[in-house]
Amino acid sequence: MEDDQWIFLSGEFVRKEDAKISVYDHGFLYGDGVFEGIRAYDGNIYRLDEHLVRLYESAKSIMLDIPYDFEVMKELIAETIRKNDLRDAYVRVVVSRGVGNLGLDPKSCGTAQVVVIVEELALFPEELYETGLEIVSVATRRNRPDVLSPKVKSLNYLNNILVKIEANLANVPEALMMNNEGYVAEGSGDNIFLVKDKVLYTPPGYVGALEGITREAIIEIAEEEGYKVKEEPFTRHDVYVADEVFLTGTAAEVIAVVKVDGRVINDGLPGPETEHITKCFRNKVATDGMQIYAQEAEIGG
Ligand code: PMP
Repeated sequence: MEDDQWIFLSGEFVRKEDAKISVYDHGFLYGDGVFEGIRAYDGNIYRLDEHLVRLYESAKSIMLDIPYDFEVMKELIAETIRKNDLRDAYVRVVVSRGVGNLGLDPKSCGTAQVVVIVEELALFPEELYETGLEIVSVATRRNRPDVLSPKVKSLNYLNNILVKIEANLANVPEALMMNNEGYVAEGSGDNIFLVKDKVLYTPPGYVGALEGITREAIIEIAEEEGYKVKEEPFTRHDVYVADEVFLTGTAAEVIAVVKVDGRVINDGLPGPETEHITKCFRNKVATDGMQIYAQEAEIGG
């Protein structure tokens, strides 16, 4: 798909090699913009409304006008997937402040730049879903929520990149960051859940994590399945002694964690509750969501 990939870039579809933006774009110069990562499963875009609400709210928070209405944006995303002839896709929507001068002031920028990229992608290699992940906790702290709200999914991901660099140095695929008080916040690009005595725990928004859409879906599924879910702060100690640990995110979906800072979680294998919740999640995503392709006409209909 590499060679014939279409990208939506400010009003038109262009080939990947022609999808270029100005070095004066404030997204490039200052990380001034917002983005979303969305996923389509078998011709359905999963929780598109929720993703776009987060995108438009993030944009509103930084006073960035997205030049398309909500409904137009939905159709545009579906059209980009159709144009690339995909049914399963990872979708990246980026809205940057647009082209301005070298100064910080967003007043110099013209219209916001909208980019939609769709690709076939899985974040972690498939075997890691079977074995679970080994992760570490790192020194990099989560941005304080009173400085940069985690509800704004902005192009400022340096904090998360520093976490990823620490994960790379430790030779593990993902890492956990704490907030300033030492409570567990989240991974570099995913939320964390613990299971202890059949109760699920995940940090509340005020700890500083992004309140992920997959996190919300997992809370709903877990409650439907009869689990108690508690959104409360916890420490690394609680992670080490949990019965099960897993991460959630649009790209990662649900993935078990089996070792944290050298501590083996339980018996070192993905646990039964994680497996059950993963199964329920995968059943849901296959049928939920906005349909990308019109229904094929029924035979004889
Ligand atoms: N935390 C961070 C920092 C993220 O970038 C993401 C991915 N968007 C998540 C958590 C998971 O959020 P979601 O389930 O909405 O993808």
